[in-house]
Amino acid sequence: MKTKRFDVIVAGGGTAGVIAGIAAARNGAKTLIVEKQRCLGGQFTAGMMGAWVGFSDKEKVIVKGIAWELRNLLMERNAIVEEDPNTDVCFLYDTEAAKIVLDEMVSKEPNLSAYVNTSIVDVIKEGDTVVGLVILSEMEHMEVRANVVIDCTGDAVVAAKAGAPFEIRQKKDIQPMTLVGKMAGIDMERVKKYYEENPPVHDHTVPPAWREFKTFPGFMHYGLRDELENVELPPHLEYLRNWLAIFTSTPNPGEVTINCSGAIEAHSINGFDERTEQEVFSQKCLHDVAEALKRFVPGFENAYLSAIAGLLGIRESRRIIGDYKVTLEDFLAAREFEDSIGRGAMPAGTHTPDGVTMVVHDLEPGKSMTIPYRCMLPLNNEGLLVAGRCVSYEAPVANCIRCMPQCMVMGEAAGTAAAIAVKQGTTPRNVDIKLLQETLKKQDAII
Ligand SMILES: Cc1cc2nc3c(=O)[nH]c(=O)nc-3n(C[C@H](O)[C@H](O)[C@H](O)COP(=O)(O)OP(=O)(O)OC[C@H]3O[C@@H](n4cnc5c(N)ncnc54)[C@H](O)[C@@H]3O)c2cc1C
Repeated sequence: MKTKRFDVIVAGGGTAGVIAGIAAARNGAKTLIVEKQRCLGGQFTAGMMGAWVGFSDKEKVIVKGIAWELRNLLMERNAIVEEDPNTDVCFLYDTEAAKIVLDEMVSKEPNLSAYVNTSIVDVIKEGDTVVGLVILSEMEHMEVRANVVIDCTGDAVVAAKAGAPFEIRQKKDIQPMTLVGKMAGIDMERVKKYYEENPPVHDHTVPPAWREFKTFPGFMHYGLRDELENVELPPHLEYLRNWLAIFTSTPNPGEVTINCSGAIEAHSINGFDERTEQEVFSQKCLHDVAEALKRFVPGFENAYLSAIAGLLGIRESRRIIGDYKVTLEDFLAAREFEDSIGRGAMPAGTHTPDGVTMVVHDLEPGKSMTIPYRCMLPLNNEGLLVAGRCVSYEAPVANCIRCMPQCMVMGEAAGTAAAIAVKQGTTPRNVDIKLLQETLKKQDAII
């Protein structure tokens, strides 16, 4: 089998992974990103999320570094909507412009290569140390080896294959998956006027912490419950009555992103039958939600479902057990960890498995929790770091850690730490934390 050698390999070029790759390369490591989708960005692009939440603690910006650089590049293209970044909870961006911006950022780094349409199929270990991956493009396998591998697969694919311990909640408890889509042809002025005159009642009483969010100039609405309460629904739409359906405007006129929970009891990591069933069900949901919006929300009469994400939205799957597991108590105490690599201030919490609502715990404006480096170090394994939504935390903290700015923060820290480990001939576990923190600060990260 063909073999190639790098200093650092990033497994999964998604939200955390691209940033990890850029950070490692900028710090002098010859780096490879391996991504199974056709483009980089994961949920940030192919998943069509479109609402970047978690840059602010509602008083000031708490995330900078490479994520902020990306935000500035999107601004230059008029591909982002925000009013006051210090207090805006949501930056609404164009997911398609983001694909190009990420490609441009990656291609500017001489130390960085990326393979897309390439799957990781196995992990190479020597003793306790992860030393490489087996990857597959079309029908061809290749071995890629490195001093440090960073698992940014969202599902902790590499860590699990390497035998690192992880947790995954039972299907009946796990947060639902959602396929995101876009609708176009909407009369946004009419929609806004309608909601101003008919403020949501049920939908906004469900997750109270979200109610206070400042979401303009990006318009955001939760739920179809008010709209569907007194109408006669055709039988095939009846199941939508209680659903949490979020739609947010995008930087493009007359366009919204639809994010509506498609809940069946399933694990995203169960391939073949179960995953296929979820994909088909989610696609049907999007069509049904689009039909309901068109029929029952003024301003949507001429709208149509214009795009469906190429990547199913997975909120929760494996979480590694790391050297430290972030707890709900840490969040509620707005804990300042000594090995902090970044901050999060979004309410902790989870979507309920039925897709109906969210359970949330909020912090006061101006407060944030730090993210400790140790939650990215999987137990029993060397040469391996994890970044993104599959790091080590208790499930109820999820919403604070898995938001895209925080995944990018972890990506930047992991990439930087990996490059330092290579330079110093040490392992990620033994990286000098003070040096890592100083380096992150020089990169304009807020820790
Ligand atoms: C429905 C939904 C709504 C959300 N809403 C918001 C929101 O409004 N705002 C917000 O900030 N966050 C939101 N989030 C959370 C956020 O989008 C994710 O938690 C975050 O993007 C995860 O980043 P990640 O890097 O961990 O994973 P991903 O972005 O999913 O990246 C993982 C990458 O690894 C790749 N990969 C996986 N396995 C392999 C393999 N075997 N070989 C090669 N590549 C592989 C995948 O293709 C993917 O590109 C939402 C999430 C969901 C699901």
